[in-house]
Amino acid sequence: MEKVEFVKVNNFSAGPAILPQEVFEEASEAVLDFQGIGMSILEISHRSKEFQSVMDEAVSLAKELLAVPNGYEVLFLQGGASTQFLMAAMNLLGDNDTAGYVETGSWSAKAIKEAKLYGHVNILASSKDDEYAHIPKGYDIPGHLKYLHLTSNNTIFGTQFHEFPKTAVPIIADMSSDIFSRTIDVDKFGIIYAGAQKNMGPAGTCIAIVNKEFVAHPVRTVPTMLDYNTHIAKGSMFNTPPVFAVYVSMLTMRWVKKNGGVSHMAKANQDKADLIYNYLDNSNLFYGRARKEDRSKMNVVFLIKNQDLTDSFLGVCARAGCSGIKGHRSVGGFRASIYNAMNIDGVQTLVDVMSEFERTHG
Ligand SMILES: *Cc1c(COP(=O)(O)O)cnc(C)c1O
Repeated sequence: MEKVEFVKVNNFSAGPAILPQEVFEEASEAVLDFQGIGMSILEISHRSKEFQSVMDEAVSLAKELLAVPNGYEVLFLQGGASTQFLMAAMNLLGDNDTAGYVETGSWSAKAIKEAKLYGHVNILASSKDDEYAHIPKGYDIPGHLKYLHLTSNNTIFGTQFHEFPKTAVPIIADMSSDIFSRTIDVDKFGIIYAGAQKNMGPAGTCIAIVNKEFVAHPVRTVPTMLDYNTHIAKGSMFNTPPVFAVYVSMLTMRWVKKNGGVSHMAKANQDKADLIYNYLDNSNLFYGRARKEDRSKMNVVFLIKNQDLTDSFLGVCARAGCSGIKGHRSVGGFRASIYNAMNIDGVQTLVDVMSEFERTHG
């Protein structure tokens, strides 16, 4: 087959999102011939030894990269982070229990809506009043709470928990858009979950890192597929797993490991964030939306002083090969998602485009 040369754009989309180019290449080869077995990854049995070793490696890479302690299991589930909103509450929040939620954006609000189906929800803090431009701090966390739920990185509003609340209450965290971007102390968490399609892989699977003791006794009768213990017992193979999404996530984790692991990703992510936020702070035309101390290192949300220039700037970005810059419909403006796979040259390209636009329109 002839290889077609094409110019790769810089993809700043929030999700599904950029993955390393070498992962795309390896994945595309596996679609034609997986490990030289004469069959595609897409047609082999999930019970084959070839796929079992993919699943095993995915689990062990996740454990290694995040230093997951004993007593936890790594699961690859379906239904996205959105199913985790209800699955966590259905398993853990009894009718008379109360869970604490920190409301920092649309995803937290959706998690709160689902939890209210099962038990009492105490919204401990919310940044809704300032349109989710900061992460609340200094609120009380009552000791009787079943768990504390938070969204570690707010993909839409561009804020991030740089420190997690100090509490003995187990934390359930939606880390969809910053998993594998930084080191974390997994033992503070009862459950960590993340839809793959932001920073881990393609759409189609959701990683859940669960404390086995914490989820061992569902508080009510739970359908088989929605019981964490089903998936723990069967190694994420109770039913057909999303084989391709797990495979490509595994390749991406291999890439993270090869490139120095999560601590190296964190350093590179800091450098990329510094580059673009420093530009924004010195710009006379663009400015960052989130409160400085709470800025996301994954999703940079920024606005333009002269809103009439919005479409013109988006056109310039498109012509310069910077895709996915348009802000979320609920926020407006712009958003540059700079996940692990985005390198600093891509961010520099965007900063150059912004500087040039400012020079000619400022
Ligand atoms: C994208 C996203 C979700 C939704 O994930 P799905 O896998 O589409 O259900 C939830 N939370 C956060 C923080 C997200 O960024």
